[in-house]
Amino acid sequence: MTRETSSELIARARNAIPGGVNSPVRAFGGVGGDPIFFSRGEGAYLEDVDGNRYIDYVASWGPMLFGHADEQVVNAVVAQAKRGLGFGAPTEAETLLAEKVIECVPSIDKVRMVSSGTEATMSAIRLARGFTGRDLLVKFAGCYHGHSDSLLVKAGSGVLTLGIPGSPGVPAAIAELTLTLPFNDVEALKALFAKQAGRIAAVIVEPVAGNMGCIPPQPGFLEALREVTEKDGAVLIFDEVMSGFRVARGGAQERFGVTPDLTTLGKIIGGGLPVGAFGGRADIMAHVAPEGGVYQAGTLSGNPLAVAAGLAMLERLDTSVYAQIDSATQTLIDGLAERARAAGHRVCTNNVCGMFSLFFDADEVSNYDHVANTNAEKFSRFFHAMLDQGVYLAPSAFEAGFVSTAHTEDVIKTTLDAAERVFSEL
Ligand SMILES: *Cc1c(COP(=O)(O)O)cnc(C)c1O
Repeated sequence: MTRETSSELIARARNAIPGGVNSPVRAFGGVGGDPIFFSRGEGAYLEDVDGNRYIDYVASWGPMLFGHADEQVVNAVVAQAKRGLGFGAPTEAETLLAEKVIECVPSIDKVRMVSSGTEATMSAIRLARGFTGRDLLVKFAGCYHGHSDSLLVKAGSGVLTLGIPGSPGVPAAIAELTLTLPFNDVEALKALFAKQAGRIAAVIVEPVAGNMGCIPPQPGFLEALREVTEKDGAVLIFDEVMSGFRVARGGAQERFGVTPDLTTLGKIIGGGLPVGAFGGRADIMAHVAPEGGVYQAGTLSGNPLAVAAGLAMLERLDTSVYAQIDSATQTLIDGLAERARAAGHRVCTNNVCGMFSLFFDADEVSNYDHVANTNAEKFSRFFHAMLDQGVYLAPSAFEAGFVSTAHTEDVIKTTLDAAERVFSEL
């Protein structure tokens, strides 16, 4: 399998774009080698500029719940494009999408659309601070909530892949307001709240962590978050940009039965176009401008194309979608673990409906420290060998994989056959 054109294109891109990419993990820094340039996607498959085909488990980092170029989503976008790309004024479809979100996620009374997950979380924490009149923010090590200043502290995703603790350019005065705890650690949470009682504006968490690989919440963790924040008057924000509409129609809060005050959404809600949203309790959302004083705005917010794509996606979510994806993911991850162990590799697997991770040289992975101690070098070799077998995984040991409805039994079987060959030579 040659990828000469991709290599030529990245060399050229590096002269015009920092690192040749518009988002760091895409540069393959975590696994080495040149990134692949894709020319098209269809269902579970991607095709690169050299004509190679791959089974795709990145799914544009989550949004492609029904696979690439899904007909209904594409048709909805094309139909809207012919009627205009955007007006910077209200459209009926925005209300339809908001109503759909409220129906899917019962903790959301009102929702504001934005253009990315980063904007959603940034706006949600400003809202929580405006609502509580407090400044401190609590997040968990390895959780990624976009790249705004307050949230780029011990973050996951590319920050973890590049092995950097934070980012130059984030003023210390801002970073100091963000307190970090280990994921899944109830005792540390209680201790922090005892020390900072009445000073914490919000706790933000990925209820299923997905940016340090997939890490499910341990029993009692989300419940403790709810209890502690409620008692202290802090706002509980579930960042469901990744888990929303992915681990259940109503997100992780439905799957684990814990209700946050605010929820941030992204990825699937835009059907593959650039979208985010934040919403929650009516009394908190009433503080958002122009109803309230917490300012938040966007030229392209509620963009008609993005809203059309999101609606086309959300209208089709029912329990059968999740049953299918859950079962396909289980077959995949069980099959990978079985084949890896049969070939003598020590692996740990995590999965929650449509999100999955395979870690090398680990027995349990339930927080950032565990992830950091897995064998990323071995993952890189696994990644490249799978690529040569026509399977495209996330180019980092610290990113989750995603399964769509287009990943049929045949597609999963082809993947497992490839993995069996790879494990035997790894
Ligand atoms: C992807 C992601 C974000 C950031 O969303 P962008 O659209 O990339 O800005 C925030 N939070 C979580 C949990 C994410 O997975």
